[in-house]
Amino acid sequence: MQVEPQTFDRVLSSMCTEPHPDARTAAERFLATNPGDPGTYPTVTELEEEAVSMLGEIAGLDSPAGYVASGGTEANIQAVRIARDRFESRTSNRVGDHTPNRNERSTPNVVMPESGHFSFQKAANVLGVELRIVPTDDDHRADLEAVRHSVDDRTALVVGVAGTTEYGRVDPIPELGEIARSVDALFHVDAAWGGFVLPFTDYEWNFSHAPVDTMAIDPHKMGQAAVPAGGLLAREETLLDELAIDTPYLESTSQATLTGTRSGAGVASAVAAMEALWPGGYQRQYARSQHNADWLADALVARGFEVVEPTLPLVAADVPVSTFDSLRREGWRISRTATGEMRIVCMPHVTRSMLEAFVADLDRLQCR
Ligand code: PLP
Repeated sequence: MQVEPQTFDRVLSSMCTEPHPDARTAAERFLATNPGDPGTYPTVTELEEEAVSMLGEIAGLDSPAGYVASGGTEANIQAVRIARDRFESRTSNRVGDHTPNRNERSTPNVVMPESGHFSFQKAANVLGVELRIVPTDDDHRADLEAVRHSVDDRTALVVGVAGTTEYGRVDPIPELGEIARSVDALFHVDAAWGGFVLPFTDYEWNFSHAPVDTMAIDPHKMGQAAVPAGGLLAREETLLDELAIDTPYLESTSQATLTGTRSGAGVASAVAAMEALWPGGYQRQYARSQHNADWLADALVARGFEVVEPTLPLVAADVPVSTFDSLRREGWRISRTATGEMRIVCMPHVTRSMLEAFVADLDRLQCR
C-alpha cells in the first residue's frame, strides 16, 4: 500500500513539527534499536545519556537524571508516580493498596492549575491520586492564592506549566515551587512544549530559577526531533529510584521507564536535533516563531477579533464557530480551546506565507 504521509502546509494546531534533517537521518539509522535494553544496545544507551545531559543544559540543571520518554504524557505520568511513591514512603502509607479498608484520608493529592495538560488526568486515574484542579487568573496563569488554599499535608506534588497547551502561558514557577516546599511536596514543571523556546525569554521557568524536582521537556515538540522523543528530567538520580523496577531477563538490572521496548529513533533524533540547533538554531527559530505569532495576532485584531496576547508563539482568538468550521473545510488544521477560542501554534514549520494564506482565506470566508 502506498499512502503519502500528511504534509505540514496547512497544519496550524499541532505541537509537533517537521523534524530537523539531521534528526530525520538519525531516527532512521537507529530505528531498530531499543534503549529499553541497554545491555544489548549500548550505543543508543550512550546517546540517551548525551540527550539527558543536553536537556539538562537547556533546563539549567548541572547533573541531570532522566530519560527520553515517549512524550510529555509519559513524563507527566512518571512525575506523578515519583511523587506518589515518595509520599508513600514518607508517610509509610501503601497507596497502591486498594483494599476496602484503605483509609480514604490517606490518598495523596496533586495540585495543578486548570491549564494543566489532560495527561495529568490519566496519571491520576492510573495512579490512584486525587487531582485538585485550581483556577487560573485573568491572564490564564496559575492563581497562587488558589494553589495555597488547595495544598495540605497530603499534597504529594504541585504542578506548574511553563508554556500551556491552550494559551502558551508560563505559570509563576518560583512561587509555585515555594508553595510545594511549604508542604514538603515535590514540584514538577511541565515544559513539554515551552522548554525549547523559554531559554530565550526572560521567564523564570527552570531548575536554576526555582526548587524544581522534575520536568517534562519534549524534543519532539519545539525541539524538532522525530516522534517519539519526550524528556523527563529529575533534579537527582534518587528521584528516579522511585521508578526503578527489576528486570530479571535483561542484561541490565533495572528500568525506570514506563514503556519497556521503546524506539531508539526518538533518542538518536533528539541528540541530532539538539546538536544541530542548541543554542543558536533554537534561538533563531524562537525569534521567527514569535514574530509570526505577533504578526498573526495583529492581523486578527485588525479584523476585529478578540485575541489573547501571544506571550509565547501561540495565538488564541475568538473566531465565530461558523468561520472556524469553514476554515477547517478549506483544509486548515486548526483547533479550539476548552472555552472555544481558535488556537494556532506557530511551530517551526509554520511560515509567514502560510499565515498570509490563512488570513486571506479567513477574509474570503468572513465576507460570504
Ligand atoms: N504537556 C503539555 C504542556 C503539552 O502541550 C502536551 C501536548 O501537547 C503534553 C504535555 C503531552 O505531550 P505528548 O502529546 O507528547 O504526550
